[in-house]
Amino acid sequence: VAGKSYDVVVVGAGNAAFCAAHAAREKGASVLMVERAPQELMGGNSRFTAGAFRCVYDGVDDLKAIMPDLTKDEIDRSDFGTYTQDQFYDDMFRVTNYRTDGELCDRLVGRSRDAMRWLHGKGMKFNPIWGRQAYLIDGKFKFWGGLTVESTGGGPGLIDQHLKIASKNGIDIRYGVRAHTLIYDGNVVRGVKVKVNGAHEEIPAKSVVIACGGFESNAEMRTRYLGPGWELAKVRGTSYNTGDGINMALAIGASSFGNWSGSHAVQWDYNAPEFGDLSVGDNFQKHSYPWGILINATGRRFVDEGADFRNYTYAKYGAVVLRQPNNFAWQVFDGKIVPMLRDEYRIKRVSKVSASTLEEFAHKLEGVDPQGFLDEIRKYNAAVKKDVKFNPNVKDGRCTVGLPINKSNWANTIEEPPFEAYQVGCGVSFTFGGVRIDPDTGQVIDSDMNPIPGLYAAGELVGGIFYFNYPGGSGLMSGTVFGRIAGTGAADAMRNA
Ligand SMILES: Cc1cc2nc3c(=O)[nH]c(=O)nc-3n(C[C@H](O)[C@H](O)[C@H](O)COP(=O)(O)OP(=O)(O)OC[C@H]3O[C@@H](n4cnc5c(N)ncnc54)[C@H](O)[C@@H]3O)c2cc1C
Repeated sequence: VAGKSYDVVVVGAGNAAFCAAHAAREKGASVLMVERAPQELMGGNSRFTAGAFRCVYDGVDDLKAIMPDLTKDEIDRSDFGTYTQDQFYDDMFRVTNYRTDGELCDRLVGRSRDAMRWLHGKGMKFNPIWGRQAYLIDGKFKFWGGLTVESTGGGPGLIDQHLKIASKNGIDIRYGVRAHTLIYDGNVVRGVKVKVNGAHEEIPAKSVVIACGGFESNAEMRTRYLGPGWELAKVRGTSYNTGDGINMALAIGASSFGNWSGSHAVQWDYNAPEFGDLSVGDNFQKHSYPWGILINATGRRFVDEGADFRNYTYAKYGAVVLRQPNNFAWQVFDGKIVPMLRDEYRIKRVSKVSASTLEEFAHKLEGVDPQGFLDEIRKYNAAVKKDVKFNPNVKDGRCTVGLPINKSNWANTIEEPPFEAYQVGCGVSFTFGGVRIDPDTGQVIDSDMNPIPGLYAAGELVGGIFYFNYPGGSGLMSGTVFGRIAGTGAADAMRNA
């Protein structure tokens, strides 16, 4: 509320910001959240998500602790398996090529289970991701890929629930307020300068938590840091994450950290709008590619579509598509796979062609050399190891043999009509580079490696966690774990001040 003074100001109103606000409030701090977006567009990328959270669980008991409504029947009909700390660590180290910062990764993984219980304790409801992360085998839902839990109602449900918790606990939120500069006397951060309705205002506070996203929605910064061509990517989520938090912190000497040339970017409908559209959410993504093939303008394959489970490849393949001629690819499926395609392939706003013969199909794929395509399909079909049974639940080893780029798993031939293809480009989700924080307090570290008094950070703008790639569902977990740490750190600092 304007004019009132607060202990902690949190910049942003996505998942990381709410977690910081809840944690600071829990410690007795008065808390104001300032959100750049108008109320109807609030919630950042977090609202665009499917609400999937990657967290450690050693078995059904851990899942029941956060989803007490799970019935015996549901449990009997599911094979949840486990997702142990070791599995989460292994996934983080493997997909980041062993670059993830050991301490940050330790907090992310080691505190994920407790952070979920904490959110549940605040009133957040979760459910198993029956639809997208499990397959029905012999009457049982088998979960795969370590991603089992989502917030009820997906991303919109996550933000609604956060809003209710915040309101119940007396956290104030102002919308349409853009933070642009930290109030800094050379030693201590004492608040934030904002622009609201064209006017400038100073909001004093004992501590500031920046949780206002990366620079994915800033074409200039994308091109500068991710590289030439990245201005051509579409943004999957909010248009408001333009790097303000990072820039504010760097301006007072914060240390930059992490994979500044890296981002989470997926295959995204080629004709999707420049920024995300809340009425479509994440349905412009096209994530059934491991069961089909990807071809570019030459008609040729260019990547191993079945290198790993989708959760471990989807976040890096957007960049691979961006590097293709004219920045597009077609995902190609035949009649065997068409019934298995995810729901997002059935939306109205989709760039799709279908055909009943390969010859007709080849000529319908806009921008593609038809002869190159037909030639590629012939070679690909001949290379499939047909004696291995297709099984989407495991890395089935049904591969191709002898191609310049082999497909390692789930190699299905393209021969039965109806043929369907979907045109995809690159959709950037969020950027990996950001500021350096103290893993235990969330305090921002300056380039002399000293903590900056009064300044804390969480969420996308924290660098050092993700490099090159990302295990699905870790972004919300990171925002939750480090939001909680930063909010607690900010409130503790106020008490010690
Ligand atoms: C389509 C899509 C689907 C995804 N699905 C998943 C998923 O299922 N699971 C998962 O873990 N991750 C998913 N992700 C990644 C996930 O969205 C992010 O990792 C996570 O939401 C980041 O949270 P955050 O709070 O840091 O940022 P955000 O949720 O983006 O919040 C940033 C907030 O800061 C505000 N802001 C920006 N600048 C300013 C300023 N100057 N002043 C004030 N406010 C400002 C923004 O308006 C916004 O409210 C997905 C991403 C996208 C785009």
